[in-house]
Amino acid sequence: MQKEQDTWLQDSHNQDAIDQIMDRIASVLKDHYENPNEADCVPPIDLDRLKAMFVHDQPPEEGIGFEAALDHFQNDIMANSIRTWHPLFLNQMFAGASFPAIIGDLLAGMLNPTLATFEASPAGTLIERSVATWMAHMIGMPEGSSGIFLPGGSMSNLLALTVARDTKLGPDIRQKGVGVQKVGILVSAGCHYSIANSAHMLGLGTDSVIRVKTNERNEMLIDDFKEKLAMCEAEGRRVFATVATCGITVTGGFDPLAEIAELCRDKDIHIHVDAAFGGAMALTQDGKKLFRGIEVADTVIWDAHKWLHSPLTCTVLLLPNPTLLKAVFASNASYLFHEPDHEPDATDDLGQYTLLCGKRFDALKVWLLFKIYGRRYFQELADERWEFAKQVHGWLAKDPDFEPAYELRSPVLCFRYTPAALDGVDQEYCDRLHRWCRRQTMEKGLALFNMSKLKRRVVYRAILINPLSTMAKMEELFENLRELGQQFMRENPPPTA
Ligand SMILES: *Cc1c(COP(=O)(O)O)cnc(C)c1O
Repeated sequence: MQKEQDTWLQDSHNQDAIDQIMDRIASVLKDHYENPNEADCVPPIDLDRLKAMFVHDQPPEEGIGFEAALDHFQNDIMANSIRTWHPLFLNQMFAGASFPAIIGDLLAGMLNPTLATFEASPAGTLIERSVATWMAHMIGMPEGSSGIFLPGGSMSNLLALTVARDTKLGPDIRQKGVGVQKVGILVSAGCHYSIANSAHMLGLGTDSVIRVKTNERNEMLIDDFKEKLAMCEAEGRRVFATVATCGITVTGGFDPLAEIAELCRDKDIHIHVDAAFGGAMALTQDGKKLFRGIEVADTVIWDAHKWLHSPLTCTVLLLPNPTLLKAVFASNASYLFHEPDHEPDATDDLGQYTLLCGKRFDALKVWLLFKIYGRRYFQELADERWEFAKQVHGWLAKDPDFEPAYELRSPVLCFRYTPAALDGVDQEYCDRLHRWCRRQTMEKGLALFNMSKLKRRVVYRAILINPLSTMAKMEELFENLRELGQQFMRENPPPTA
């Protein structure tokens, strides 16, 4: 027995209802896009009210219907969400998402294929391979490089290090497990936390992650890299992999990839490049040289959901020879991957190249972006945002009340409030001031930027890839931080030195 109303099927047979909902969704999208400045970046959050609305142990017994659910979404979910597309949303390594890619996400959900098998997604398989090849090419990898799309950089680091482990630590790892070998992965002290998680999950232990000393941007110091390498050799620890980060999470720095590559290429060490954030710097004029050495990388990851403005999640794992993934991840699930299977060619089953069985059509988002805008647009966008970041940095460097923490390598700016009145003042007080001021900008709804620690001192951290951020908006933020800093000092006079 079919119900009168509100069933999915009923709706899809009711053209008027569908049209209404489509109009409604179009207007939500349009609103969202046309008025990025109109509401606060951070809405006032009433936690008790949110919990009352959203924390329930049981699903609703009866539905409220599409219209009412959309009302609920707009009035209660959207209105209580951080506006990640606001010009002063500088908190994450992404900002909003590009319209075509949002549509790509929607359309991928509509087709709802799984890219695990070619027969379930012929066009999708070809597109995914193709887009991965584009990305390998754009980042400077050799001819023939390609890979697969995965949900996120952290997952991609895990899979890349699985490849490193299986190829470098012996052919029988797959059957026998890792045992108790003493192994090492050389990383910068500023590498992403997913590296240590991966070492844990791969049975290597977090002690195998050897942290190389870094400079003020958290970039590996090559002399210490050599020292750590020698130290590991001396203690019988097999260094089988290194992770060079291109776009270090806190600072946007770049590990010295060319020198690392030079040191590792004759030593049978897997070179993994984590370009989750920094990949797009390869599109810029200045950035290309930072990627020297990527020609010999064994694995590379790049998040399209960061600086290519796709919605989360959308990441590629790239290899010079992508069939290596098949050697590591292929399974004998004959219900899915039929024998004799395709040769490793364009019609191969992508499910054999990864841990994932259900595999989203994420590549569609990037494919649409490049189809609509073309590569050159992204190159110009990256160059333009990089110039913008340098301009903001220059502005701050000239202001006696602020101090950038380092010269920029990519659009990640860490800085401090350093007026003369704080000269010689206790560090703990300054850290408290920074935390309070940042909290105030959120409470005012003005902005969402981040905070981190460098050399044990609290710094403000702003990611400057948001295409809507302007110099005027940034100046507004800095003026607010200046005034808030003064207010804090008035209300809590600094301890006299
Ligand atoms: C963002 C980032 C990651 C994690 O990627 P997710 O897509 O957020 O999982 C890993 N490494 C670096 C350098 C990153 O910037």
